[in-house]
Amino acid sequence: MSKKVYIESYGCQMNVSDSEVVASILAQDGYTAVHSAEEADLVLLNTCSIREKAEYTVMQRINEMNNLKAANQDLKVGVLGCMAERMKENLLVEKKVVDLVVGPDAYRSLPQLLEEVGSGQRAVNVLLSREETYGEIVPVRLNSNGVTAFVTIMRGCDNMCAFCVVPFTRGRERSRDAHSIVNECKQLVSEGYKEVTLLGQNVDSYKWKSPPDAKPNGSAAAITDFADLLDMVATACPGLRIRYSTSHPKDMTDKVLEVMARHDNICKYIHLPVQSGSSEVLRRMNRGYDRDWYLGRIAAIRRHMPDCAISTDIISGFCGETEEDHRQTLELMEQVGYDMAYMFKYSERPKTLAARKQADDVPEEVKGRRLAEIIEAQKLSSAKRMASYVGQVHDVLIEGVSKRSDEHMYGRNTQNSVVIVPRYGSQLPVAGSQAAMQGEGPDEGSRTAPATNNQQPATTELCPGDMVRVRITSATAGSLQGEPLGTVHETVAQA
Ligand code: SAM
Ligand code: SF4
Repeated sequence: MSKKVYIESYGCQMNVSDSEVVASILAQDGYTAVHSAEEADLVLLNTCSIREKAEYTVMQRINEMNNLKAANQDLKVGVLGCMAERMKENLLVEKKVVDLVVGPDAYRSLPQLLEEVGSGQRAVNVLLSREETYGEIVPVRLNSNGVTAFVTIMRGCDNMCAFCVVPFTRGRERSRDAHSIVNECKQLVSEGYKEVTLLGQNVDSYKWKSPPDAKPNGSAAAITDFADLLDMVATACPGLRIRYSTSHPKDMTDKVLEVMARHDNICKYIHLPVQSGSSEVLRRMNRGYDRDWYLGRIAAIRRHMPDCAISTDIISGFCGETEEDHRQTLELMEQVGYDMAYMFKYSERPKTLAARKQADDVPEEVKGRRLAEIIEAQKLSSAKRMASYVGQVHDVLIEGVSKRSDEHMYGRNTQNSVVIVPRYGSQLPVAGSQAAMQGEGPDEGSRTAPATNNQQPATTELCPGDMVRVRITSATAGSLQGEPLGTVHETVAQA
């Protein structure tokens, strides 16, 4: 009988992607992934250390494992990811319920470690690597909608942002073989996926050196940078939508923007974390750019792609932040007009440059008040951006049924905004469409009732994976609503 593993991911998209690599390694070892901890023989928590609150949440979840173990004596519990790396053996001391601690670069050793655990020992491997990219491992897609997937292109981070624990928990930066990335994307296309997000902590510093030519005189190794990689994936997979995250303002090149502008299948959306609008705070954060540089990068995006959406990350109350610094952040937000932002209170993390050298001196209530002002400013900005889309026609990739209503589907436009559309519609112009009549559209035959002789519109159900042309009819700060004009395939066919 096959063993059952349940993997729970916390924190960033990278962890979700790592969990899929772990599932693949364990599948080779006879494990099947299941959907709840209660059904599993092995529960793995893939953890996040980015803020104290994230760690607290995981600690609570680890405590809950005691109840599960009481009900199932054979259950094993493992902690993976950033908390495993940061806390190492201490986790076993602090939490007796944990059997296994494995850092982000040690997942290949899981089968051996599980053998040790099976023989009654507790096991730890938190070695970081300068080479490991899990490049050739084909991830097992967990909780997939069958439409969108993550593809990790690099690991670790060589930047030393003063507030950030990532360089300590995920080690040195290394880039994955460009060909293995393209192959994974092609494989996803063949499985029916319609969109990938290429992942790295700082994708703009992606750099892959192809091995030197095997010729006797050995020709110079070619370097593939992030712009080249984007170009390769977009060209190799023309029907696939491509997104990526995260860009770094100090490294984002015009070459990347040119490639994005050139390929229709690269989404016009950039997540460009600013962290603060004050050059002085940015200097203390060791971000490697100042306010003017950042605004210069925003101008470059707008120059290359006027319709590009931009989102950001902002930290309130970093060490030494004054009211004037905070005001500059609010002013920069207004100037840029972000589509969306992730906003956080500064949380001091052990070992980081800031924890060692700078006082966490902004009182908690001041951090909270500033964060509330930042959130309020972003709400206004999001609402304004979203309202500007009303009346436009967008191509929307349908991802699933809306959480609020079975009668609606949700998807995303190229700018990454959520768009809600009716699930069923007689308004779709499929009746007269030659493409639909001849069954050329993807899956059309199976879910479009044939048009009658008098050309009455047929009833159509939208499904995940459909690319629909939508007129945006209304907007809130969080989503757009629209009416489908037809699938992109049909609209093109009719033109
Ligand atoms: N690599 C990306 C970058 O450079 O922007 C993102 C890394 S991190 C997973 C995501 C975000 O968490 C950061 O952009 C930052 O805004 C926030 N963050 C990181 N460390 C933090 C801390 N100690 N306190 C509060 N927020 C933090
Ligand atoms: Fe952390 Fe900075 Fe690296 Fe992002 S770039 S992961 S914020 S150190």
